[in-house]
Amino acid sequence: MTAIRIEPDLQHKLAILSREAEDEVADVPTETSIQRGLRQPTDLIYPAKQSGGGTTRLFKVLQTNACRYACRYCFTSCAIRRRRTTFKPDELATIFLQLHHHRHVDGLFLSSGIVPDANTTMERMLATVERLRRRAGYQGYIHLKLIPGADYEYIARAVELADRVSLNLEAPNPERLARLAPDKEWTDSMWTRLRWAADLIRQAREEGRRAARSLTTQFVVGAAGESDRELLVTVARAQRELGLWRAYFSAFHPIEHSPLADQPAEDPLRALRLSQASFMLRDYGFSFADLPFDAHGRLPRDKTPKQAWAEQHLLEPIEINRATRHQLLRIPGIGPRAAERILTIRRTTRLRDLAQLQRLGVRVAWCAPYLLLDGRRPARQLALW
Ligand code: SF4
Repeated sequence: MTAIRIEPDLQHKLAILSREAEDEVADVPTETSIQRGLRQPTDLIYPAKQSGGGTTRLFKVLQTNACRYACRYCFTSCAIRRRRTTFKPDELATIFLQLHHHRHVDGLFLSSGIVPDANTTMERMLATVERLRRRAGYQGYIHLKLIPGADYEYIARAVELADRVSLNLEAPNPERLARLAPDKEWTDSMWTRLRWAADLIRQAREEGRRAARSLTTQFVVGAAGESDRELLVTVARAQRELGLWRAYFSAFHPIEHSPLADQPAEDPLRALRLSQASFMLRDYGFSFADLPFDAHGRLPRDKTPKQAWAEQHLLEPIEINRATRHQLLRIPGIGPRAAERILTIRRTTRLRDLAQLQRLGVRVAWCAPYLLLDGRRPARQLALW
């Protein structure tokens, strides 16, 4: 990496404020990363998938780690003694532009502690982004966190300036939030602000104006006794009412000296299963009633929710050469892109073996039990995979 010149006191701020942005999730973990025990990268630069496909390197940072709130799961909580520092908008904009100029990063992910109040915090963050967009002419990717309780005008400016905006609901409902973050209010400060942002995005799209293209949220999983069903009820509602692009799930891990320090960490596999279930709802045409909860509202951990659904419902194999898009998306191992490729190639080619499917991006070991390939079950071919 080419060295960039940052003043020593700014380097110190940078070390603190990039490290403390670590708990903001910008991508979904894989089973491999979970098995290897990998957490998110701890340096400044964070790879994240984009809505149109591809990966971007984000500079993930807080404007300040000072915060008036004492959320019980949070490293930045005011209840925990630690050194606090704040970037001035010019300082942060200058550092980002240097990183971008030297091609170390493709975009910015900006969050913040809340101090002294929501509007002042958003003003500071927006001033940073305005310096990038208006003074420096930066047109690249910006993901901007919305601050709970901020006034409408700040949400509107954020939607106007950023490519993606998000507001972390943290918990699926007000009762669960009270256990995690007693100072925060769910319905008006958080859900209503998400609704404002969703309406502003829709309006800009209808009028052909440049604005944020997507809205996301994040939940802390496993610290408030919530079930998977509770979380996914709220995700389904947000997808339906707000057009939520993605819900991120951050498995709880206890913070030393916090009120939840003695509570066990949540299994990261749970967060992955929740993400997969949210994709079933958003991208695969499943309804909430299709999700395979047990009697306690839990998803299975030992298989994906789509595999669990298929075991119960796909009792007859599906002919891959005749299946509709809707049917293809119900088969484990076939995602939206692979389904499109299958539909395209079928116009000219008969699909007869698993190798063809694998080349189209299908996970053949997962889908084979549910398929017919030109009238034949691929069971014998499966031994080859
Ligand atoms: S508002 Fe809560 S979650 Fe956000 S930085 Fe402050 S203490 Fe942490």
